[in-house]
Amino acid sequence: MSHPLSTSRTRPPFVELDAIAKHFADGTVALHALDLAFDEGEFVVLLGPSGSGKTTACRVLAGLETPTAGRIRLDGTDVTRLPPRLRGMGMVFQNYALYPHRTVAENIAYPLRIRGVAAAERERRVRAIATLLQLDALLARRPAQLSGGQAQRVAVARALVWEPRLVLMDEPLSNLDALLRLHTRTELKRLHRTLGRTFVFVTHDQEEAMTLGTRIAVLRDGRLEQFAPPIEIWRRPATRFVAEFIGRPAMNTLEGQVRAGRFEADGVGLPLPGAPDGPLVIGVRPEHLTLAPAGEAAAHDGVVGVVDVVEAVPPDTLVMVRVGGVTWAVRVAADTVPWVTGAPVRLHWAPDALHRFDAGDGRRID
Ligand code: ATP
Repeated sequence: MSHPLSTSRTRPPFVELDAIAKHFADGTVALHALDLAFDEGEFVVLLGPSGSGKTTACRVLAGLETPTAGRIRLDGTDVTRLPPRLRGMGMVFQNYALYPHRTVAENIAYPLRIRGVAAAERERRVRAIATLLQLDALLARRPAQLSGGQAQRVAVARALVWEPRLVLMDEPLSNLDALLRLHTRTELKRLHRTLGRTFVFVTHDQEEAMTLGTRIAVLRDGRLEQFAPPIEIWRRPATRFVAEFIGRPAMNTLEGQVRAGRFEADGVGLPLPGAPDGPLVIGVRPEHLTLAPAGEAAAHDGVVGVVDVVEAVPPDTLVMVRVGGVTWAVRVAADTVPWVTGAPVRLHWAPDALHRFDAGDGRRID
């Protein structure tokens, strides 16, 4: 499924990374021929584990790093060699630096001042963005008099006040405590909707990515694993890596062999009619599994395991079950039968809840 914003294209994508590679002087390859294109108005999240290349991709886009190979186009124009200040992008980085001796209002106004915007207009725009970010009462303070969350919001205001067409944010919520992070996340989502600008947002937090992104680019070792709307990433992960990265807990997987229409792994056998013989990885999400005492269900259905650990995560319970040499997580409603360690159980799922991945390259098999 393509994103609704990207259908029936008559003009080039707003932002286009075309085979971008970044090799650092010490030989580290941070990006391998990264292709990524998206439209104006999107909220693109770069998601991946530590070291996957998220920050590098963002810095290359900003012009703070020069790619080793590849092109960057903005609205159809090649900007690969353009210095950052000429790219028209607003930026908020993890270590946002506010000017300590200037007030909040002066900090926010700074990008307007250097662009020669007249004082009255500057004041009008600072007030407007301050209201959006609930900073009105703080405009006369200096950065040292702000909480971490307020300072972070000032940095966001400063990046947005001059209305750049593209706003880059690298882990902008990282310094906030959990509650403030949640609150600021909601504000960012509202801001994106209100301003109608294009956001690129770096995070390693999948929940943040799922709630904010119109599309998520999942990176791994400098390569793009999948670029799709959050629901598609969850429903149809393109690779085993994405399947095992997304979800709380992530998708359960099991490596085995298909022989004559049956999938077999260490102690597990289930019919898989039509599947070609050979190695295969199957996967099922914890929330798509149901548990029954091992003896009760039809013997041909699901797989058998043994309860290992039971964890209460209200309103649900996570039951960890040993299946074929690995542990599968099962998410059940908290008030169901209390499963006990050591109990043999049978796990069931609907036929369409089963995912299949190539045992070699990890690609999804439909
Ligand atoms: P994190 O979530 O930890 O910030 P990331 O996904 O943003 O990680 P990058 O910071 O883009 O990852 O780094 C990608 C790879 O490039 C890593 O292996 C990192 O060590 C390496 N790297 C980044 N900057 C440099 C540099 N200046 N010189 C050499 N290697 C670098």
